[in-house]
Amino acid sequence: MALIVQKYGGSSVGDAGKIKNVARRVAQTKDKGNQVVVVVSAMGDTTDELIKLAYQINERPDERELDMLLSTGEIISCTLLAMALEAMGYEAISLSGAQAGIKTDAVYSRARIQSIDPERITRELEKGNIVIVAGFQGITDDMDVTTLGRGGSDTTAVALAVSLGAEVCQIYTDVEGVFTADPRIVPEAQKLPEIGYEEMLELATYGAKVMHPRAVELGELFNVPILVASSFNDSPGTLIHGGVAMEVRNKVRGIAHDLDVAKITVVGVPDRPGIAASIFEPLAKANISIDTIVQNASVNKITDLTFTVAKSQLKKAMEVVKPIAESIGARECVSDSTLGKVSIIGTGMQNTPGYAARMFGALREKGINIELITTSEIRITCIIEEDRVKDAVRVLHRAFELEG
Ligand code: ASP
Ligand code: MG
Repeated sequence: MALIVQKYGGSSVGDAGKIKNVARRVAQTKDKGNQVVVVVSAMGDTTDELIKLAYQINERPDERELDMLLSTGEIISCTLLAMALEAMGYEAISLSGAQAGIKTDAVYSRARIQSIDPERITRELEKGNIVIVAGFQGITDDMDVTTLGRGGSDTTAVALAVSLGAEVCQIYTDVEGVFTADPRIVPEAQKLPEIGYEEMLELATYGAKVMHPRAVELGELFNVPILVASSFNDSPGTLIHGGVAMEVRNKVRGIAHDLDVAKITVVGVPDRPGIAASIFEPLAKANISIDTIVQNASVNKITDLTFTVAKSQLKKAMEVVKPIAESIGARECVSDSTLGKVSIIGTGMQNTPGYAARMFGALREKGINIELITTSEIRITCIIEEDRVKDAVRVLHRAFELEG
């Protein structure tokens, strides 16, 4: 008997009919003799609607209250799924994150899982129950409800798979797997039958929406295979795992893009020790996550410092940075909120020259200006104008021959 953790995303449980569809799929897995733990997201756009509602009531909702509110979205879907299974004659029980033993730190809206005590889940499984866990949430030592950040149900699922020693974590969603690029932008994009953790982590971090990066990271850390597949058909999906064969690791695997990029440049910064710390420490304290950071080589002990944040964090970041820029004698502080980024990703580019040149050449062909460039061992990212991102994805998909 295998233990399988399945996760169903918000669009897969969007209405009563879809919840019944999920119940049938869960039941099939149970009928094959498996123990099944299911993690669900909130129905459809519930989380967005709850956030909107909160802001209609209070422009600055208390973060503890907000997390408590958002956690209810997943409670709704997990109870309904349990009822759907019971209606089909299966024994099922729904558990909130707290009931499932998921302990987190107290950083509201982006809490991290600290530990899982799977005792209750195990007990229910032993009784023969299908266990349905509300995704995206946990509880602090003080018994306050927290949420794990948008898209966090993936992380709940992989974390449970780790803690229960599950054979596989299956992520069911409204797409058929991981593609070489977003198929809505590139119709010729190919589904990848398998992909390694590190490539998937870069894809997810740099914009592929199909999985939460933290979930991929956890999977890699504990070597849990993760299947990403459709909840609407039986097409095989993409397996994310550690044993991807050498032959498929030989080139660019995919193009990721992200339209949510804003840039701040502190112009004319005196180049002396401690300046970067004096800018980034307060940003960290304000809980603003910084993505790309670029500092120019200085001329006459003066340099420019550029970094990017999510568009939603631009205002807050500017409020933090402006007074600091003044106090350290920088010339000015400018921002641009109309950017996006496009990345090529693949372990094949490790130690192989020519990928950057090919990428920049392809962008030139389309007259796309590159604002910033960053790289890792297996990724090259260009920050460009937001409204050129789709063109960039298409031209890069072609340039790296990903059509198959
Ligand atoms: N419902 C939450 C969100 O929309 C968590 C999730 O779907 O994973 O972000
Ligand atoms: Mg969702």
